Amino acid sequence: MTQTPHAIDRPLPDGLHPDTLALRVGLAPSQYGEHSDAVYLTSTFVQPDAATSARRFAMEEEGYTYSRTSNPSVTAFERRLASLEGAEAAIGTASGMAAILLMGMGLLKSGDHVICSNSMFGSTIKLFGSEFGKFGVETSFVSQTDVAEWRAAMRPNTKLLFAETPTNPLTEVCDIRALADLAHGAGALLAVDNCFASPALQKPISLGADLVIHSGTKYLDGQGRVMAGAICGSHQLIDGVFAPLIRSAGMVLSPFNAWVVHKGLETLGVRMQAQSRNSLQIAGWLEQHPAVERVYYPGLPSHPQHALAMAQMGGQGAAVVSFVVKGATPEQERARAFHVIDSTRVCSIATNLGDVKTILCHSASTSHGRLSEAQRQTAGVVQGLIRLAVGLEYPGDIQNDLARGLDSAASIT
Ligand SMILES: *Cc1c(COP(=O)(O)O)cnc(C)c1O
Repeated sequence: MTQTPHAIDRPLPDGLHPDTLALRVGLAPSQYGEHSDAVYLTSTFVQPDAATSARRFAMEEEGYTYSRTSNPSVTAFERRLASLEGAEAAIGTASGMAAILLMGMGLLKSGDHVICSNSMFGSTIKLFGSEFGKFGVETSFVSQTDVAEWRAAMRPNTKLLFAETPTNPLTEVCDIRALADLAHGAGALLAVDNCFASPALQKPISLGADLVIHSGTKYLDGQGRVMAGAICGSHQLIDGVFAPLIRSAGMVLSPFNAWVVHKGLETLGVRMQAQSRNSLQIAGWLEQHPAVERVYYPGLPSHPQHALAMAQMGGQGAAVVSFVVKGATPEQERARAFHVIDSTRVCSIATNLGDVKTILCHSASTSHGRLSEAQRQTAGVVQGLIRLAVGLEYPGDIQNDLARGLDSAASIT
């Protein structure tokens, strides 16, 4: 069969809406004119001649050489994610934690100081609190919501402020602009883990953040298929600092996983809107249930940072709802929470989020299981707490699924 060359490389016009960018930014199609992006499953790239190869390895000429340096499927994802975050550039990584590791390795050296919220993702706390300490980087952990605590923790050697908003599992919201101003006033950088809100709801760079971290494993993929991560930021940091480093350190995003999350971005906007809408309905319903002590959801007026969340997250609350099942003692709370979880027939019992299938878990014995009871109390992760990562099922079916255990919770003594 004759192949018609298909050099469709029409540059996109400026000023497109993010909904359009999510579908249209990427790579030009190959000579075959495929409409769905090709996936470039190759570790290496054939060079036309030795001199070209030498120039490409020396980064004097554009062109792919080896997939630890770059790969077209990864580039397509990076371009699309950067456009959605309003960043100059992005770099894909093997997982969300790989993105955080790459950021730390790229920005910090022995003697530097970092400030993180104490309600960051558990592995982030481990990485900064324990692992980076081995290399002489010190980290202070402060309140997620109290800017004064962040200010008080600043030192002359503070290089990085790292926040995550909303947090897991209590959906605490921090003020991105206030933290950016604090960081910049002291010559430090602000990085924001935008995993829970995604660029469909929240754009930290437009609020002053220097870097945005992603676990692509969550909402960017959206269907719980692959591990992926990314850092978004300026050309200077992405291409000048992180790209040369990943070439040596190697925690690169696989081309297949890049292709999956690249395709996932096409539906991110509608998923985040629909999952936020379902979450608000379920959260409101939970708040009325007599067996429920408390509901944590930024979209509810009862949330302590509701106004800030609405301003910062495009009027949406995102898709994680946490709630506490009532009980007279921690043991009873735990038994009743287990009963609610075990009585479901639709929700998945698992520890992930960002999927279109609703997932629930008991935080105190899973994501926060390695903490002491005292640390859990400080973090607000009580024994009755259940985290619900709301998907796209009909919300009434999820409510009925939860009602089965909640309605009979009082019988568990
Ligand atoms: C899951 C998660 C991470 C880590 O991402 P992985 O892809 O699992 O490595 C980082 N931050 C947040 C907020 C997360 O939820």
